[in-house]
Amino acid sequence: MKFVYAFSEANGLSKDQLGGKGAGLSAMTRLGLPVPPGFTVTTEACRAYHMHRQTPHNLWMEVQDALQALEQQTGKVLGNPERPLLLSVRSGAKFSMPGMMDTILNLGLNDEVVEGLTALTQDARFAFDAYRRLIQMFADVVVGVPRHHFETALEDLKMARGVQEDLSLTAEDLQELVTTYKRLFKRHAGFEFPQSPQFQLQEAILAVFKSWGNRRAATYRKLHHIPDDLGTAANVQAMVFGNLGATSGTGVGFTRNPISGDPQVFGEFLLNAQGEDVVAGIRTPLPLCDLQNHLPEVHDQLMHTAGLLEKHFKDMQDFEFTIEAGRLYMLQTRAGKRSARAAFKIAHDLAQEGLISREEALSRIQLESLEQLMYPQPVTHHGQKALLKGLPASPGAASGVVVFSADEAVEVAKTRPCILVTPETSPEDIHGMASAKGILTARGGMTSHAAVVARGMGCPAVVGAEDLRVDREAGVMQVKGLTIRAGETLTISGSTGEVFLGEIPLQDSQLDPEVFEILSWADGIRKLEVRANADTPQDARRARENGAQGIGLCRTEHMFFAEERIPLVRKMILAASAQEELEALRLLQNMQRRDFEAILLAMDGLPVTIRLIDPPLHEFLPQMSDLLVKVTQLAQQERSEAEETTYQEARELLERVKQLHEVNPMMGLRGARLGITRPSIICMQVHALAEATCNLLAQGKKPRPEIMIPLTGTAQELAYVRHIVEEVLASHDLHLPIGSMIEVPRACLVGGQLADTADFLSFGTNDLTQMTYGYSRDDAARFLGTYVEKGILTFDPFTRLDEDGVGTLISMAVQDARRKKPEIKLGICGEHGGEAHSIGFFHQVGLDYVSCSPFRLLAARLAAAQATLNNHTQEAVLA
Ligand code: ADP
Ligand code: MG
Ligand code: MG
Repeated sequence: MKFVYAFSEANGLSKDQLGGKGAGLSAMTRLGLPVPPGFTVTTEACRAYHMHRQTPHNLWMEVQDALQALEQQTGKVLGNPERPLLLSVRSGAKFSMPGMMDTILNLGLNDEVVEGLTALTQDARFAFDAYRRLIQMFADVVVGVPRHHFETALEDLKMARGVQEDLSLTAEDLQELVTTYKRLFKRHAGFEFPQSPQFQLQEAILAVFKSWGNRRAATYRKLHHIPDDLGTAANVQAMVFGNLGATSGTGVGFTRNPISGDPQVFGEFLLNAQGEDVVAGIRTPLPLCDLQNHLPEVHDQLMHTAGLLEKHFKDMQDFEFTIEAGRLYMLQTRAGKRSARAAFKIAHDLAQEGLISREEALSRIQLESLEQLMYPQPVTHHGQKALLKGLPASPGAASGVVVFSADEAVEVAKTRPCILVTPETSPEDIHGMASAKGILTARGGMTSHAAVVARGMGCPAVVGAEDLRVDREAGVMQVKGLTIRAGETLTISGSTGEVFLGEIPLQDSQLDPEVFEILSWADGIRKLEVRANADTPQDARRARENGAQGIGLCRTEHMFFAEERIPLVRKMILAASAQEELEALRLLQNMQRRDFEAILLAMDGLPVTIRLIDPPLHEFLPQMSDLLVKVTQLAQQERSEAEETTYQEARELLERVKQLHEVNPMMGLRGARLGITRPSIICMQVHALAEATCNLLAQGKKPRPEIMIPLTGTAQELAYVRHIVEEVLASHDLHLPIGSMIEVPRACLVGGQLADTADFLSFGTNDLTQMTYGYSRDDAARFLGTYVEKGILTFDPFTRLDEDGVGTLISMAVQDARRKKPEIKLGICGEHGGEAHSIGFFHQVGLDYVSCSPFRLLAARLAAAQATLNNHTQEAVLA
């Protein structure tokens, strides 16, 4: 097996083998772009290394061959002081893991070569700067000596020389620094800095392989669901130098704006800088358009290159480049990370530009993006000014208490939302960034580590807030003379870059037209109908705006909970005589009729599934324990006349509540059972619905109510309630579709029998999950977290449908029902109706619709379309 490929010969190899960076370098080389030559050691070598704890036997021979070819191509030789070849050794896995793994630059320098480089460039400052960087990176990456030993030495030297900037140090200073670094290296590594370039190269490649297993990388993979066994490639490449003076520089860019999605090249650069200076966020870089003023030809070439990259990769690219003495070199390209907003805009524009199909555009959108877009924004009162403004690096808003370190963020986040405030973030902070609700940094640009990682995680971030001073040690931050301590509250908006003192209320944000256009493409593709769960006219209107094709679940009892209605509901429940009950019911009927009219009107022309009363009645009554306390207190005191009446009433109420009390109400007198034992309530509801329907029909409207009977487990139950409902409807001369909710496992097992008696069936997956697992929805929170943590469950089945168990029940029911009644309408109305994986499953088992909360409708429409596309691909693969 071959493990090493020159960039120019790696044609036809995949990202799996070359890693993302290697594949990008090879593609750019073949496109004829200016890429410093080099070769890739494949991920296979890394996997073999991790599996056998040693490198494959022919690896170093292949590396030698590739190196020789590289020396021939460049006319330079590794370790030769007259014509020194310097190398970078860069990790690069299949999925980009920015800053998570390691890179070594300037490899090949030693005491002799650095002199040669000085002679060659006539620039001792440059040569020794390169050397000291190599020693530091080698110590860090290969040997594991913490960087801060070297950083401190550098700071000390600057202090001693009385200078602020690295650039102000002289050649002699840097020469001295190299001596210090070598001493530090020996002290911490236990051996001299290796002078053999060959040895440096081998160790560097091995270190890249090992870096796949470091904690940072492992955390990142876990967060982004990247498998642990892919391995990384190592890329060995001739160095180019961005720090050779004013016509040199280094930068990063995006072929389109990664925040707004606008089709203009966007990026940042630094003149006279090397390597990671831009991404590390140490100096604040200039915007790419400024390059025009400094090096116009390079600027034009870069713009042209950006265009070529997009045409080739058919996606927005994130690229790195270095300019050496006026010549442009491309160092990296990959699909760029983007904000949720940009994801839509870019997918939309690429499809409009004909670069990709609409289907491709749709399949590229991640559902989380959509949810992020609907993230609320802070609404400030008139005149309320931001405390601070930085760069809007990752959209969304968050409030939380200030913490100053990643570890603190993890701790505090357990109890309260927090905002991580730091001078700049580095890859070591990743665990804190994952816990914080928002990130605020004083330094760094739009492409700094904090910005890139936060965008990837969908965590709001403001970076490069120049007026911010952070003193981690003292646990304070300062803004223009104002001191803020750990534990105080901030609100940040990663969409505008604003930072506010205190907690600011948040409000929904506006969506771009491109989002709606993409959603309309989704509507054209999806097979699943999408309805909403909505109980009020406002919700119904919102649902309709968000593209709902009807209401799949209207919980009528929610209308009972309004403050002014509760007394009436109680009166009905507690009525001593039929007469009293009738009076209460009549009043309630009027109210429900008005509610129904409003909802049906909001959804005019679309189906509205009205579910008859479901919860056990005592939910409408006061708590038994509260009553008990009240009665006991009153019983023990002397009572005035008024108090006597209260006392008697409370006692009666307590008696009634005791009678209605159930040990396990969730499995007690509720749903269809309630309808059967106390038909007066559902009769009232059906009368109200029938009247509302007739009124609207008389006005020329098109109401389309459907009546849903909850919690049936037997066909007899359903038939019994159906009969009651039909009789009421008949008294209004109405025929409406009547169906059932499927929430108990037995109902799934007799899906065919229920289908016989129903016009539609809708899976209530919340209760169905509860009853299938036997996990009480109200108490499961106590152990579900532990279950997921310990890997006993891979996800919370109340959030994402358990396909193996609950899903099997559903598909049995679907098959049985369709066998009995092929035209029966089947849907789902549990929380899972808005969750992407679950929607994929519902599509596959052949449901007609999903119904979800109005907030999740947009995501559901998209997920339904993606489910259709996935099915097509699967079918294509099978065919
Ligand atoms: P990351 O995976 O963190 O992006 P890279 O492998 O891209 O790491 O390396 C980090 C930086 O090192 C690059 O952005 C680039 O500035 C610099 N670099 C890498 N290879 C070279 C090279 N051949 N010449 C000059 N600079 C390089
Ligand atoms: Mg790196
Ligand atoms: Mg890079």
